[in-house]
Amino acid sequence: MADAATHTATATNNCGGGNAKKAFSLFADPAAALASARHEFGEHGGVNMSIEASATFTVMEPETMKRMFAGELGPDRDFFIYSRHFNPTVLNLSRQMAALEGTEAAYCTSSGMSAISSVLLQLCGTGGHVVASSALYGGTHALLANFFPKACNITASFVDINDMQAVESAIQEGKTKVLYFEAVSNPTLQVANIPELSALGHRKGLTVVVDNTFAPMVLSPARLGADVVVHSISKFISGAADIIAGAVCGSASLMNKMMDLHDGPLMLLGPTMNAKVAFELSERLPHLSIRMKEHSHRAMVYATRLKDLGIKNSAQFGLMAVSLGYYETLMSCSGSSTSSEMDEDAKKRAGISPGLIRFSVGFVGTLDQKWSQFEKALSKFHETELPNKS
Ligand SMILES: *Cc1c(COP(=O)(O)O)cnc(C)c1O
Repeated sequence: MADAATHTATATNNCGGGNAKKAFSLFADPAAALASARHEFGEHGGVNMSIEASATFTVMEPETMKRMFAGELGPDRDFFIYSRHFNPTVLNLSRQMAALEGTEAAYCTSSGMSAISSVLLQLCGTGGHVVASSALYGGTHALLANFFPKACNITASFVDINDMQAVESAIQEGKTKVLYFEAVSNPTLQVANIPELSALGHRKGLTVVVDNTFAPMVLSPARLGADVVVHSISKFISGAADIIAGAVCGSASLMNKMMDLHDGPLMLLGPTMNAKVAFELSERLPHLSIRMKEHSHRAMVYATRLKDLGIKNSAQFGLMAVSLGYYETLMSCSGSSTSSEMDEDAKKRAGISPGLIRFSVGFVGTLDQKWSQFEKALSKFHETELPNKS
């Protein structure tokens, strides 16, 4: 049963926050926060909410329409205009995402890239500068290195975020607006020192934006000091490799600016999530913590056993496919696939060697079954590959 207190929302908070500020202080644990988020029931009392599959919404009084467009009546009070703006089912998922990340609000988008590009456009504006980690997802690197400079004169410097001095030196007083990095980097798994980077960013007046795609429920960037958390929901949160989706989690004021009817990038570029997709995803969040535990446990076993075998790189097991966070093990050669947008120098600085193979360890089958398959594949690999090389 939903707690009545979780139904409160302020007039300024339209994007799924409600009492998330309270949730933030009450729940240091994302699983606890998620479980206490408002639970929507179905139209006929179903345990699951109904899918509001409507592009547009009816209004009974002409006066109401005026007040909705003036921003006086919004989704926080159950007034909806049009689903590119807000949709109840998407809003429900946004509330769950805000609870998960311990932010005041969140907004779900059609992809991780649209979440990232929209929030950077909002925070930077033309001529702005971003200090970014040199170890980033290939698409984000390409957005910052190629697309933004060409499209809107937003530029970026790429630095080693383990080197606080390098981060500080890259900040251009007055011009740099954002410090951007991944909590755990794709594909090199570099773990960011979120508290220290956030403190440095804030001392310099920057907004700290963290991509938490690789570590939902494992790390909570906003609880560790970051301002904004972005996600590719397409990976672990979805968990089935069937949906492309994303989210921006942050303050209600940032979300409302991004949704502004006159100049908000989410509102005007329109990377909207479909209500049916939002429903599917909201049914997967309750078991995200269990999935993350099993992914992590099995990845640890694999890493330990591989180390015992004296192997750093390996191949021919699982499915060869890009992406990650699937229940089956996925493997990809990052340098020639998801990080191929980076030039040789950028790859080198990110620590992506030509032979680097990313392993996203799944959880189907028994661990022993999957490990013995892997060992078999490995010995075949040694038979066929190694003699040719020596
Ligand atoms: C996949 C990924 C993205 C892009 O997300 P899409 O949902 O594919 O648009 C961004 N960041 C990271 C770390 C990713 O792994």
